[in-house]
Amino acid sequence: NKSELNENNTIICEELVVGKTRRYWAKIIKKPVFDPDNNWKYTIITFTDISITKLRETLQHKVLDAMSKEFPLSEILDIICNEVELLAPEITASIIEVNAQGQLHSLSAPSLPDAYSASLNGIHIGPYVGSCGTAAWRSRPVIVDDIATDPLWDNYRAAILPLGYVACWSTPIFNNQHQVVGTLAFYLKKARDLELENLHQQIIDACSNLCSLTFEREHTKQRIRQLAFYDELTGLPNRSLLLAKSDQVISSSIRNDDPLAVLYIDLDRFKMINESYGHFVGDELLSQIAIRLKKNLRSVDIVGRLSGDEFAIILPECSHQQAQLMIEELQIHLAEPININHSILKMSASIGVAMFPTDGRDIETLLHRADIAMDQAKNNGRSQFCFFSHEMNELLQSHLKLENDLRHALLNHQLHLHYQPQIDLVTGSLYGVEALARWTHPEFGEISPERFIPIAEECGLITEFGYWVLQESCRQLADWRAQGINIPSISVNLSPTSFHCIRLPNTILDILNLYHLKPQELTIELTESVLLDNHPCTMKILHEIHALAVHLSMDDFGTGYSSLSYLRRLPISEFKLDRSFVADLEYDEVAQALSRAILSIGKTLELTIVAEGVETAEQHQILYQQGYTVAQGYLFSRPLPANALKAWLDEWNISWQNKQMKDV
Ligand code: C2E
Ligand code: CA
Ligand code: CA
Repeated sequence: NKSELNENNTIICEELVVGKTRRYWAKIIKKPVFDPDNNWKYTIITFTDISITKLRETLQHKVLDAMSKEFPLSEILDIICNEVELLAPEITASIIEVNAQGQLHSLSAPSLPDAYSASLNGIHIGPYVGSCGTAAWRSRPVIVDDIATDPLWDNYRAAILPLGYVACWSTPIFNNQHQVVGTLAFYLKKARDLELENLHQQIIDACSNLCSLTFEREHTKQRIRQLAFYDELTGLPNRSLLLAKSDQVISSSIRNDDPLAVLYIDLDRFKMINESYGHFVGDELLSQIAIRLKKNLRSVDIVGRLSGDEFAIILPECSHQQAQLMIEELQIHLAEPININHSILKMSASIGVAMFPTDGRDIETLLHRADIAMDQAKNNGRSQFCFFSHEMNELLQSHLKLENDLRHALLNHQLHLHYQPQIDLVTGSLYGVEALARWTHPEFGEISPERFIPIAEECGLITEFGYWVLQESCRQLADWRAQGINIPSISVNLSPTSFHCIRLPNTILDILNLYHLKPQELTIELTESVLLDNHPCTMKILHEIHALAVHLSMDDFGTGYSSLSYLRRLPISEFKLDRSFVADLEYDEVAQALSRAILSIGKTLELTIVAEGVETAEQHQILYQQGYTVAQGYLFSRPLPANALKAWLDEWNISWQNKQMKDV
């Protein structure tokens, strides 16, 4: 071993020394003694027992070194067992893990037969479970000096006695919260004397902390892995792990020429539930859904959470038909009511499917295409599924192109506004006009706002677009004024997102000032979805706009789900009866009853109600008789370009006067 020679010719070294009853780590000092003539007479040799210090030192050095080199847990623990057995060959050391479920799992026992160690795996700790299972159960060391007779070993001695062991001493290993995470056991073939017993106790003391540290570190590593690769809420693999696992199964699908299905799953109405029932219920719901998703799967299938309420399932060796069957089953399963906090919720999911290899050969492409198919399923209604098709891809491509073109159109003033008159049914005069956006695409011609407004929302152009509509319609109103055309007021549609922007009220004020308009001459139309998106600024901004004396109008009234008590607190001065009610008025008594009811709500709240989409004289007649005072629709006029409005207005005034004269 280490030895050194100093000036006095003294040799110092550390060696493992075999004594009569046991081994020692000894520090040996050999000091030669010489006579006056410098002839060697004898040597004084001193032995110091440094067994435990040496064991500690060696273990620390070797174990820390192994940790720093990222050795696997059982190899690090093997080092401990080997060092123990080197110093005390009468011991056979074994280290066992106790998992969170209280099961044993052998990690290291270099001198025990593998079959014996393996036979311990999965055994539950308990009051009579050998030395280790009992030590873990009691959180205290268990010393069994005679395995053959001790009742703790009743169920286990058959396996150990043939190996020649008579005694087993087991000590729990604790984590830093003082929970048992493992045991360190010494098996012996002979009964011990007091001296050995002392030594063994010292060895245990030297090893325990190191074992704890090793376990602790392993748990930290697992926790980090868990955090990095698993979703905290549901315990499912996250996107990164899902992608990594999928790469493996796709490689084997390629090798074996097997089909594979990728499912993209998006819960229906999750956002609404989350907002109306609160995040606790939302989280609980996601966990329960995760359990349901896992339940129906085979062991080869992979399920993961992609984000929010989106999940993915990879089904290896799965054909188109099998995927379809599996989805139909899954949807039935998902639809079973879920009870959370005494609320019974019924969930459903929209599912998109992409197939390997037809729809893609790598997981990114497959997931992306399954996502496209999922969007299509969503469009078809709730609880639907859809397989990816190449037409969908083309649709998406054209969507992307539209997005680009729209951005370009907005920057280059290629959008314009049309104006639809609103008629005062009592006086026949013009009540106002509604500005409606128009886009003439250089290749595709007219694109409906119902198509391009959602695109503007998705690609973040909507706020800017809203400002443009405001500015352009106010400019137009001022322009008509300058020409002597009398338009009492103008209505502008704004998307819910516009009400997230705190500079909206100031911008409105600036625009009104710029064109010398009164605030009462501007109406802003909003939809009920403004109330659903729960943005912290929305309410504040609505009240600020109201404070400017600009009118607010609730568009498409009757189609959303806002509660009346909520509406009452909104500073609005106008409702617009949705045209779906108007369309059915002539034939449907229910529609008539509804329009009457909405009118009376409006009257109670002292609001003006504008009936939209009036196309026929009969509808006009019914609305008028019910007491509606303002209407808008093709019967009076389609939305018109700005320069056509004067001609329409002149003609309208003449024909109205004629009608009045006839009526008189
Ligand atoms: P909206 O605000 O409910 O506008 C009324 C829609 O009904 C307009 O469609 C109008 O042309 C149509 N309409 C009017 N009278 C009749 C009728 O008698 N019969 C029928 N069948 N339809 C009638 P348009 O212009 O296609 O606009 C559709 C929707 O697009 C609008 O519904 C509005 O939600 C949105 N939109 C239009 N312009 C803008 C805008 O500048 N900003 C925002 N955020 N949305 C806009
Ligand atoms: Ca509108
Ligand atoms: Ca409307």
